[in-house]
Amino acid sequence: MSKQMLVLQLCCPHCKELLTEGNRIHLDAYLKDLNKDGEVFLSAVFGEYSVEGTIEIPEGAVAEFRCPKCDQSVMISLYCRTCNAPMASLTQSGGGYIEFCSRRGCKGHAIGGAGDIDEMITLMNKKFNTPYD
Ligand SMILES: [Zn+2]
Ligand SMILES: [Zn+2]
Repeated sequence: MSKQMLVLQLCCPHCKELLTEGNRIHLDAYLKDLNKDGEVFLSAVFGEYSVEGTIEIPEGAVAEFRCPKCDQSVMISLYCRTCNAPMASLTQSGGGYIEFCSRRGCKGHAIGGAGDIDEMITLMNKKFNTPYD
């Protein structure tokens, strides 16, 4: 059985380099609490939570994400509605942008937020530039 997956093609908002590699999004992350720096790979599949990387992000820890290509922060001055951690934002290659929570384990951490179906449809509309809204 094959389930259709929406793999997001996300780019750095600064240098516009594509950060999606296969089904994953490559970012650099800095963990303030632990003073650790490393690479992380978030799932690029819409609504999926998986995170891998060269550093362990403990459940509940907040990471500061940076573009691995130009080293600029992708953090924005918006806070997660669920846990109040800072949000990160990446540009979609088809237009629009995606915001996600920087706290590990938060529902907003998944690309596409909580995977809300309405949000997803809005996103799909944006992604494919369909006229209905
Ligand atoms: Zn960049
Ligand atoms: Zn959050």
